[in-house]
Amino acid sequence: MVLELFKYNLQLRHVPGKNLYVADALSRNPLKCHEDTSFLEAGATVVHTVLTASDEKTEILKKATKDDPVLSLIRNYIEEGWPANFKEVSEKATPFWDKKAELHCYNELIFLGNRLVVPTQMKKEILQNLHSAHQGITSCINKASRNVYWPNFCEDIKNFINSCSICQQHQRAKVKETLLLYRIPSLPWEEVSIGFMYLQKTGYLLCTDYHSKYIEIKNLTLKTAEPVISALKQIFRTHGIPRRLHSDNGPPFDSKQFVNFTKTYDIEHVTSSPKYSKSNGMVERAIGTMKAILNKVIKDGGDPNLAVLEYNTTPKFNLLSPAEILMGRVLRTILPTKSSLLKPKFPTEITVKRLKDNQGKQKAYYVKTAVKLSPLKPKQPVYVQMGHRDWTPGTVLKKLDTPRSYLFKTSVVTPLAIAELSPPASPPFPLFELSSVVSDAAFELSCLVLM
Ligand SMILES: [Zn+2]
Repeated sequence: MVLELFKYNLQLRHVPGKNLYVADALSRNPLKCHEDTSFLEAGATVVHTVLTASDEKTEILKKATKDDPVLSLIRNYIEEGWPANFKEVSEKATPFWDKKAELHCYNELIFLGNRLVVPTQMKKEILQNLHSAHQGITSCINKASRNVYWPNFCEDIKNFINSCSICQQHQRAKVKETLLLYRIPSLPWEEVSIGFMYLQKTGYLLCTDYHSKYIEIKNLTLKTAEPVISALKQIFRTHGIPRRLHSDNGPPFDSKQFVNFTKTYDIEHVTSSPKYSKSNGMVERAIGTMKAILNKVIKDGGDPNLAVLEYNTTPKFNLLSPAEILMGRVLRTILPTKSSLLKPKFPTEITVKRLKDNQGKQKAYYVKTAVKLSPLKPKQPVYVQMGHRDWTPGTVLKKLDTPRSYLFKTSVVTPLAIAELSPPASPPFPLFELSSVVSDAAFELSCLVLM
């Protein structure tokens, strides 16, 4: 509740009970049982960091906010209270008048609800961040509307994009694409579509989710079954295995290896019919979008990875971003974002509490069970375990510079090895476990030491 109240400028006043005409149920009717609310701490920590930007960038933003004459004025109004009438407001601050109820100051930054109010000198950088994937005006405005604010930001975004030379050069023909209708699966990542994309002489495998429209891209050196399956396995180890996989029916999707892969991974593989290639239209469309974005980004010397991230984190029309639909959380990008926006939508408070509890338990268990072994002396007899072999008797030659490491000699397997002290120690001698295999060079050195 405290976090929620940050944005309001409240004044607390004590009113004696005799002057309260409405029953004060909140204080006079306490709850008999109390829920454990310690997990709220986790949320508080998240909000405490305010911005997702690095400390360095946050400092730059703070300084720019402080140096901005209009924002200094706004900050003053927030802290001291706004004038009662619009006419009394300083002219520079008038564009903020309508928003005054939502404006608040925190950690030397100004926010409008969850959005950072951007100081004038930072506008250009933020506009560049917003447009780093060279997405269209609507996408950039959607993104800004969630993260940042300044008066007339829509107009500034429009002008910025209209004057972007890269976007001008790559304007798509104003031809309406055919409307593609497909069944939307009820679960994220239930049904995905894959296809090949070629860009600047490089091959890629593109995978898109029917539900969230999330796009994954992997570089491909060859278009054969092995690298394609390997790329898919990497994608599926991150997002899980989809129930249904759509592709065209050309190689390598018709190969025996691919059939085996989908069988092992328990995936229903749906191939588009030769007569109606548009049935894989979902991925064709994603390829078109990605090509348009990446061509521009590469030409601009930008980072294609950031561009894909930008695409996946941009809200579409009235929808959340693909990443949010798929993962239930907003992903961090280079755009300064209020930390609270990055809180997952799942009920994670309980998870955070349990993680902390478990960490405490693990530490307690470790402290209880760890055996502190006393340092070993040269010529001291020890037992050594090499890999999974039995314990072998040996003697300590000398202590090495790395912590808990010794050079020792064994009578059976190899004359020398470096071992790390490992609990538990059991009588009659301390036991060692061979943790690192001695390289040839180290071995020679060890031999010298021996002589
Ligand atoms: Zn552009």
